[in-house]
Amino acid sequence: MYRPHPFSWVPGAEQRHATIDDRPPGGWRDGETVTTLCDLSIQAETSELAWLWDTCPDCNAAAHVLAQCPMPPPAGAR
Ligand SMILES: [Zn+2]
Repeated sequence: MYRPHPFSWVPGAEQRHATIDDRPPGGWRDGETVTTLCDLSIQAETSELAWLWDTCPDCNAAAHVLAQCPMPPPAGAR
């Protein structure tokens, strides 16, 4: 199965966090405890409003590192 990134986004604690926990089939359920990339244990929220919360800056930074690390360096890069 194709997984573009080893993490997924999950809203909780009034921010949109990223996690490397295995995303359950069909997605996170309300109240499910998730360990985030910023090292918090949050309860997932699945309301539509939750997806409008601000992205957690720590998770955002960690997600970018995770997303870029597995990529091979571009040709010509040192
Ligand atoms: Zn976070």
